[in-house]
Amino acid sequence: MASRAPSASIDLDALRLDDARALLSHAAQDSTPAPGESPVAYLQRVIDGLCELSARDPLTGLANRRHFRALLDRAIETVARSGDSVLLLLLDIDHFKAINDTHGHQAGDEVLRAVAACLTRCVRPMDTVARHGGEEFAILLPNCRPLYGEKVAERIRRAIEALVIAASPVLDLRITISIGGAFAPEWIRSTCELWLERTDQQLYHAKHGGRNRCAIDLPRQVSVSAEEKGLLFEHFGNEAESAPAVVSQGKS
Ligand code: GH3
Ligand code: MG
Ligand code: MG
Repeated sequence: MASRAPSASIDLDALRLDDARALLSHAAQDSTPAPGESPVAYLQRVIDGLCELSARDPLTGLANRRHFRALLDRAIETVARSGDSVLLLLLDIDHFKAINDTHGHQAGDEVLRAVAACLTRCVRPMDTVARHGGEEFAILLPNCRPLYGEKVAERIRRAIEALVIAASPVLDLRITISIGGAFAPEWIRSTCELWLERTDQQLYHAKHGGRNRCAIDLPRQVSVSAEEKGLLFEHFGNEAESAPAVVSQGKS
């Protein structure tokens, strides 16, 4: 085994760390070297802290859009290899603008925090809840059988409907949410954009169907011939042998 080159010594004073330190302090993370901490260990801690910050939405603490999209890309790779059944949900608060307009932006922010916390309580530790945009959230649920898709979405919808949000010491609010969902097409490499687009179409249906409802694009099962199977999986080599002769039919 090749021996590792001795690591170069790092002079922290020669690095421009002021902005990084300010960002970490602002996020209530310790930004100064601990007594006895080596420069390498300290720098690693700074890098880890910045990575964590770049992945989080500051208002809700959820995964942000950028981080979520990276997870979606990873999920697409996993689905193409293993045929795992993965559900994507997009959730949009109904008539949220009216909350801001009636009760102020601060109350709106409290609602967003409360919804984020409620969604996190609703899902398993293996699922990821993200703030996808202003008052829109996204949830990635790996290992979610198609049979459970509608049940999971409906459970979340009801939890939000039942939530009483203390928007201020004198103001309790209740809200509803519309949910669109779509499964990743099993055994086929899709793209993040196509999957999101299909899910967004379902959210559109939920909104235009009257809001406070769920619309899930269930995968339709179709049989494919051995030849088609070969065409689909030729770039996976031997992995094609373990693929079932059934794939989900979706647009992406
Ligand atoms: P719909 O039922 O069709 O979804 O209606 P809506 O009012 O929820 O949707 P619309 O897109 O008209 O309004 C979204 C509002 O969300 C407008 C915007 O000011 C507000 N918003 C976006 N980000 C934030 C935020 O971080 N905090 C607060 N308080 N409001 C936000
Ligand atoms: Mg919206
Ligand atoms: Mg909305």
